[in-house]
Amino acid sequence: MISVDEARERILSAFVPTPVERLALLDALGLTLAEAVVSTMSLPPFDTAAMDGFAVRASDIAAASPVEPIVLAVIGEAAAGADHDAAVERGTAIRIMTGAVVPRGATAVVPFELTDDADPGRRPSQVRVLQPQRDKANIRQAGQDAHPGSVVIVAGRVLGPLQLGILASLGQPSVLVHRRPTVAILSTGDELVAPGETLPAAHIFDSNGAALAAAVREAGGEPRSLGIAPDRVDTLRERLREAETADLVLTSGGVSHGDYDIVKDLLAEAGQVQFWRVAMKPGRPLGFGWIDGRPLVGLPGNPGAALVAFEQFIRPAIRKLLGRTSLLRPEIEVVVRGTALNSDGRRCFLRARVDQREGQFVATLASARGSGVTPTQAEANALVIVPESHSEVRDGDRLSAQMLNWDE
Ligand code: AMP
Ligand code: MG
Repeated sequence: MISVDEARERILSAFVPTPVERLALLDALGLTLAEAVVSTMSLPPFDTAAMDGFAVRASDIAAASPVEPIVLAVIGEAAAGADHDAAVERGTAIRIMTGAVVPRGATAVVPFELTDDADPGRRPSQVRVLQPQRDKANIRQAGQDAHPGSVVIVAGRVLGPLQLGILASLGQPSVLVHRRPTVAILSTGDELVAPGETLPAAHIFDSNGAALAAAVREAGGEPRSLGIAPDRVDTLRERLREAETADLVLTSGGVSHGDYDIVKDLLAEAGQVQFWRVAMKPGRPLGFGWIDGRPLVGLPGNPGAALVAFEQFIRPAIRKLLGRTSLLRPEIEVVVRGTALNSDGRRCFLRARVDQREGQFVATLASARGSGVTPTQAEANALVIVPESHSEVRDGDRLSAQMLNWDE
């Protein structure tokens, strides 16, 4: 048997980030930036008013107070988007709107609230300023956020709304990212039928196909379903050929010791796949290797085991393909509600519902502990990790949990 960490290390060592491509901003959401973003312009491009009010010379209003306001002559106005060439001279002010170019000569913007002009509809020829302003107050200086040549986002950042907004603010409609990896998924088993079809006697619905495709997409990969293959070497081989161009091939089922566990035979023969017994529960049997030049992981058929193995080995691999550097789920300390035994020295992953209560995270163990995915686990949002050496989980134990879903 090998440890979970060793299995993960061996699998991860087979992956490098995918080749890069240029994508439109929205298509790059969640992908990893493959080169530093360098600004080609100043941000903001011009001195910009940050408030609605009056552009003034700060020195003119240094003595302003509510009792002795400074009176300035209003000589014009500047709206956002208006390419004006106005100038503020001594004793004058220009009405200005947020986003407008600050007139030459002006060194501050006084907000309307600090003048006697609180009514946007009026066009008075004079304004009384009630308070002094610092030099540059309410002005965003040209180039204060970026100038040509400045690195605004470093390579390797994950692109979220903020990063995409920064790119757009620089006028860049596309961005260079690591291509979204494609993951081919094949369910194996003579007993399997696709959901939506009628269920013959002695058959069950293929749940791994849907669950693994969802897990791939959630991890940032593009799932490609190869459907269900019966337990026959020739059809299985044929199906796997359809995995062409995938960055990773996932099979489920047929990797343990049953008479019809032919995935194992085929992969050991046609591919170069090794079969491991990983010291984990659920999910001991695991295949890993290469078929037709592509990495393949043979997951256990048991749906609960398949998903736990996905979490430990496949999600990190997909993230590595994506070019991410943080590969694992966040782990937090939880207080366990419930009990469990872990007698045979494997690392145990228990589905649980984690909620924050009175400043601590409480993990209520799901009642079904087998390898299946059962409706009793539908509330779970985390996997509690029982270390190899921890033979008994008692109510109140403090353990680590992998958070699968924080915001539910
Ligand atoms: P196997 O690893 O092929 O021996 O399968 C182990 C258990 O998981 C058996 O009870 C199978 O029926 C079940 N199983 C295998 N593949 C799937 C699947 N795609 N969906 C649901 N159950 C499955
Ligand atoms: Mg099977």
